[in-house]
Amino acid sequence: MDSNSVDQIVKDIEFIKKQLNEKMVTKLGLDQYIRIAKRLDDHANECEECVNFLEDLERHFRDLQHRINDLNKEDYQRHHKQTNNIKNHLQKKHGLVPENHYMTLYMSVGISLGVALGMLLFDNLALGIPIGMTLGIAIGSGMDSDAKKKGKMI
Ligand SMILES: [Zn+2]
Repeated sequence: MDSNSVDQIVKDIEFIKKQLNEKMVTKLGLDQYIRIAKRLDDHANECEECVNFLEDLERHFRDLQHRINDLNKEDYQRHHKQTNNIKNHLQKKHGLVPENHYMTLYMSVGISLGVALGMLLFDNLALGIPIGMTLGIAIGSGMDSDAKKKGKMI
């Protein structure tokens, strides 16, 4: 598959971004979508589903672009459903992780460990929470930036 459709999708997304305010751009996750399209393209050679998703996206954003001033609730629902489907696929099939995936994960692990350690060491669970949280965030962000470097981040 050539990269024409990715270029077209990115172009359409950039166009849509200019028409919408910042809040809507964030709500629709448009910046992330540019990365999603590129990740799909990375795997399009060996994965038919990625090719199908790219075709869907091309249609979807062309359609959004034409009706940009006339979007309704169903459009947003469809958009989010599609986002979830694609993210699921990229995670399950291609081992990619969403933005801040490890940080969120390790922060909650850190908090639980912190509670236990706080009880154990200080006999005070509240004391352990900030320590565990800080450690979890530090470890998680390190893993996130590693995933980003390796092109594993959605
Ligand atoms: Zn795929």
